[in-house]
Amino acid sequence: RRVADRLNNAHRPTFSVEFFPPRDEADEAVLWRAIRELEPLDPAYMSITYGAGGSSRDGTIRNIARVATDTTLVPMAHLTAVNHSVAELRNVIGHFAAVGVHNILALRGDPPGDPMGEWVPHPQGLHYAEELVRLIRELGDFCVGVSAFPYGHPRSADLDTDTHYLVRKLRAGADFAIAQLFFEAEDFLRLRDRVAAAGCDALMLPGIMPLTTPRTLRKTIELSGATPPSWLVDRLAPLEDDPKAFRAEGLDVVTELCSRLLAEGVPELHFYTFNRSKATRELVERLGLRSPAPPLALT
Ligand code: FAD
Repeated sequence: RRVADRLNNAHRPTFSVEFFPPRDEADEAVLWRAIRELEPLDPAYMSITYGAGGSSRDGTIRNIARVATDTTLVPMAHLTAVNHSVAELRNVIGHFAAVGVHNILALRGDPPGDPMGEWVPHPQGLHYAEELVRLIRELGDFCVGVSAFPYGHPRSADLDTDTHYLVRKLRAGADFAIAQLFFEAEDFLRLRDRVAAAGCDALMLPGIMPLTTPRTLRKTIELSGATPPSWLVDRLAPLEDDPKAFRAEGLDVVTELCSRLLAEGVPELHFYTFNRSKATRELVERLGLRSPAPPLALT
């Protein structure tokens, strides 16, 4: 099943969930517990990120295949061009199709080790995500997503250049873009407006981090590439040493952000789960995104 079809046919706002590949067996059990706990809420799709190296990549490929065969969820695999020749990328993409994964988030990826280090493409590989979108399209009837950056990609000279290449990447055959983390609804809405103003009507989906701990806030700041607004720091910084109060306030902040996005017609929220389900389940419940399936107790 295709993500774009699910989103276009949805009669009300929905959500999706992102996981990362497990490092070992214990991690894999944790991942699968979260997957099983989220499955009854019927997310539009679930995705697993793609790492820089062999065992992590195997973890993505193995687990996304298991999602396709063993669950009712719609799987989407992330895939990057890092350290892959085109022949290898063709193999991975062909494997996804063979195991029933027909949705791929096409990314260029970062240089392993230092994300802002020099980007050196594989000698027989690709330079930009746009080329990966084309390759995936060439190889079959895939639904393809790409990444977008509300504050511009850190390597982009300015927002106009960033929008130019984002729109090129979407026009190369992507069905939707998922936005990197951001702090205020307006930051995402301005990105959506820039893309629309360029004459592109691809679906733009916001990435949402449940702010349950100081660590998730630090991660959000790091990934967004931006400075958090002072109101956010004022609300959360004083609670850094009080885990319960931080979590309560953090989830309030995220609920307010999501409510504003939904009020602006955003069709879907993409939650980072960190391979746990509880915070996402709570947000889904609060925002009324839950499907008609029976709810799970919030333990
Ligand atoms: P591109 O779209 O190729 O863009 C990279 C830079 O090049 C941008 O500055 C762009 O403006 C510029 N550019 C693009 N095309 C051209 C061109 N033709 N000429 C000149 N300049 C150009 N990383 C992982 O390793 N694994 C993951 O699973 C993963 N998942 C992610 C999910 C989401 C939703 C997001 C937002 C990011 C994710 N990333 C992941 C991180 C991503 O790989 C990095 O941000 C990476 O630096 C950029 O990848 P991209 O696909 O956006 O690159």
